[in-house]
Amino acid sequence: MREPEKVLKDPVHGYIYIHDPLIWNVINAREVQRLRRVRQLGAAYLTYPGGEHSRFSHSLGVYEVMRQILSHFERNGWGLSAEEQRLALVSGLLHDVGHAPFSHALESVLGTHHEDWSVAIIRDPTTEVHRALAGVSPEFANQVAQVIAKTHPNRLVVSLVSGQLDADRLDYLMRDSLFTGVDYGKFDLPRIVRIMVPQADRLVVKKSGRYTVEAYLLARYFMYWQVYFHPVCRAAEVLLKSVLTRAQWLIHHQSEKLSPFTELDRVLAGTWSLGDYLTVDDNLLLAAVSAWRQHHDPVLSDLSRRFLDRRLPKYRELGDRRPTVETIAALNQIVASAGFDPQYYCAIDEIGAVYYDYYLGDQVELDGPGLFLWDESTSKLIEVSKISRAIRSMAEETKRRVIRVYVPEEVEEDPRLGARLHQMTDPVREWGELDLSAQELGDGKES
Ligand code: CA
Repeated sequence: MREPEKVLKDPVHGYIYIHDPLIWNVINAREVQRLRRVRQLGAAYLTYPGGEHSRFSHSLGVYEVMRQILSHFERNGWGLSAEEQRLALVSGLLHDVGHAPFSHALESVLGTHHEDWSVAIIRDPTTEVHRALAGVSPEFANQVAQVIAKTHPNRLVVSLVSGQLDADRLDYLMRDSLFTGVDYGKFDLPRIVRIMVPQADRLVVKKSGRYTVEAYLLARYFMYWQVYFHPVCRAAEVLLKSVLTRAQWLIHHQSEKLSPFTELDRVLAGTWSLGDYLTVDDNLLLAAVSAWRQHHDPVLSDLSRRFLDRRLPKYRELGDRRPTVETIAALNQIVASAGFDPQYYCAIDEIGAVYYDYYLGDQVELDGPGLFLWDESTSKLIEVSKISRAIRSMAEETKRRVIRVYVPEEVEEDPRLGARLHQMTDPVREWGELDLSAQELGDGKES
């Protein structure tokens, strides 16, 4: 007898439908339940008060988008095999299972990447996720790991998980837009699904859906600049990175126990096990930062206080060129003269250079850049920026780098230091400002 269908309520998709007992077992694995305790947008809630949603709800959303795409293929006679469908659904559900708390801050301090951890968790025979997958076949866990690592030979399934128009992006743009309240990050998701066509090993969209695709790409553009690259969202991340960098320095230079949690100490010391890594979630990390507010190291306690009380560093634009060694030395000197250690209180943040990969960092371009429109009458494929001036100019603009320097508010507000900072930075040129000649527009192609 078939298991009864399970239905979960979701604010983005309305309902999430689960028919396969395997999916239910994977959702209930403790490594997936942990994602309830990891925020999808890291410290962005300090800028957007609504941005508190979890990676758990996002993972379910990716599963649901994947289910809708596969169902659309099935209804149109392009159905994938039952095994391929299961592989795509489970891979979508598990693609973020290795995310660390406040991923990007912690990952940059540890030098790890969540995708490697997702693969490790899926392959490790002691995890509940692995045991659920091993029930399908001895090879299944490895296949899921290959899809997430983008090495699986089925390129269509890989591209549905990580591609130009994948289930991951479709869910996180809609979800992040809803929870932050950034309304123009929305697009017509049901129609995007309806215009998708699998062609051999890649996903294309019907040419008649051109404007839907444009709306999706523009929504993504708005979300990057309004949320993921937002200077204040970045400020919170820069500050948290300083907290963790100082904690790591103390671990390496003091023999005492640093945090109330031995698992976090081992993670920061670089001597962690998979179990330690899975124990460290947002709650545990924030509890440690709360404890560090009282720490006897003045730098760690001060940085922790700033993070908890939202005394975020202030930023200035440095333009679009990487600062020279001399500029960095001068900025450090300004911060040091106010009594702050520049290693923790002066940060250069570069954004924009990796537009497609930025923020969640879950994807790289699978089969080269570009999103292709399929002309049904001629069977020709055309890259969307070739016929869309809007996308072409947007793609050009996103090639631009934006470099910001972050300093404590005391430095920015000090009349003398603030004036020196002012001379070195360019407050006139706003980030996101266009600087395109007609020539550049004409040559533009998305990358
Ligand atoms: Ca994701």
